[in-house]
Amino acid sequence: MKLPEASDNPDVAIIGCGPVGAAAALGLADAGRRVALIDKKRPPPQLGRFGGDLRAMALSPASQALLAELDLWQRLRPTPYRLMRVWEERGTAELRFDAAEAGRAELGWIQESGPLSEAAWARLAEHPNVELLLGESPSAVTPTPPAVALQVGRRRLSAALLIVADGAQSPVRRQLGVKAQAWDPQQVAIASIVRTSRGHANTAWQRFLLDGPVALLPCADAQTAALVWSQSPAAAERRMALTEAAFCAELTCATEACQGEVEAVDRRLRFPLAQSVARTFSPHHRVLLIGDAARVVHPLAGLGLNLGFEDVSGLLRTAKGALDPGAPGLWRTFARRRRARALGMAHFLSALQGFYGLSQPAVGWLRNIGVRMVNNSAPIKRQLISEALGLGPLAQRLR
Ligand SMILES: Cc1cc2nc3c(=O)[nH]c(=O)nc-3n(C[C@H](O)[C@H](O)[C@H](O)COP(=O)(O)OP(=O)(O)OC[C@H]3O[C@@H](n4cnc5c(N)ncnc54)[C@H](O)[C@@H]3O)c2cc1C
Repeated sequence: MKLPEASDNPDVAIIGCGPVGAAAALGLADAGRRVALIDKKRPPPQLGRFGGDLRAMALSPASQALLAELDLWQRLRPTPYRLMRVWEERGTAELRFDAAEAGRAELGWIQESGPLSEAAWARLAEHPNVELLLGESPSAVTPTPPAVALQVGRRRLSAALLIVADGAQSPVRRQLGVKAQAWDPQQVAIASIVRTSRGHANTAWQRFLLDGPVALLPCADAQTAALVWSQSPAAAERRMALTEAAFCAELTCATEACQGEVEAVDRRLRFPLAQSVARTFSPHHRVLLIGDAARVVHPLAGLGLNLGFEDVSGLLRTAKGALDPGAPGLWRTFARRRRARALGMAHFLSALQGFYGLSQPAVGWLRNIGVRMVNNSAPIKRQLISEALGLGPLAQRLR
């Protein structure tokens, strides 16, 4: 398709049309910026045999507010969860987070990935300020003082601002020479949809096993739940090869039958896990890294996409009213705050993973005392809930 001459100079070029890049593109285009959105492919939905997408995400109220602002929330049918129960393999104490304790109707929602992408793509395709360059990847990216030059196929684009949102591997971040600090959790997640005998009761369950956490998250059908089971690579390899019946039996046992028997499991997907934070989120005053391209966190707290959406909210606020969206100094505070939040989360999640992975009886005993104290303290729990929902003072300050 030949594009109009003017679009060779978009205000903003975004690489990566995952949920984070797509949300940034819509927000900027809604604000009147001309956006070129580049992605090497359109990811196919991962439909399973229970009719749903095999990948589901926990979304926070802060993410919900952003998606509503972008006219996407209205197109989705997410499942609310009102209770979260967290317990462990070696212990008797349990953390219970109840939406009512935080004065809310729900703690968050579980949303299938496919419909979220479809809703975003539908809006992008009809947006007059968005040019979609699909099946493309930039072969050269050169930030220069007046603009960022991009070679995309046979096109040469010159954008006032480049947003890199090309995911955890981020080829463009590497192309720009930005290194990342990495913590290898040495885990693999098995994700799928399961059917259980008792159903989910709009509760998100997570049990910390010594080998890694296993979570069951409520889906639209009351008898089905999204599974995210983090574990060592060797355990994952063995469990990927199990028959359906054997896998279900192990999962029932691993979750202490919290939803009754696991009766069926859909196709199992395998995700090697990583944790990393880029050394800078703005390697040039006209270049920003957002979403997984900027930081990758362990899925145990269901935060990766929510942090990416926090990036988008912050970036839309900073870009508002700026004459030149790549003006020197414009992104300094944004980049510093977002990186501080990412580092804080990566350290916290690594510590949590390590904390629950310690098997010594004395440590387990102390852990249970600590968990029971937190569970019995309404103010601490309220604080934890509001930070996890992206509504606490820390989350707000670092947006
Ligand atoms: C098992 C698991 C469970 C998770 N659960 C949750 C959860 O409950 N809640 C939550 O908030 N987060 C969760 N996450 C994290 C979440 O999936 C990610 O944070 C989120 O998908 C990142 O979105 P993104 O748009 O930044 O990147 P991606 O979704 O990876 O999108 C990147 C896009 O860039 C494109 N691209 C890549 N390279 C190029 C290139 N060179 N040129 C052009 N385009 C390119 C790709 O095609 C893709 O479309 C989970 C992750 C895993 C692994």
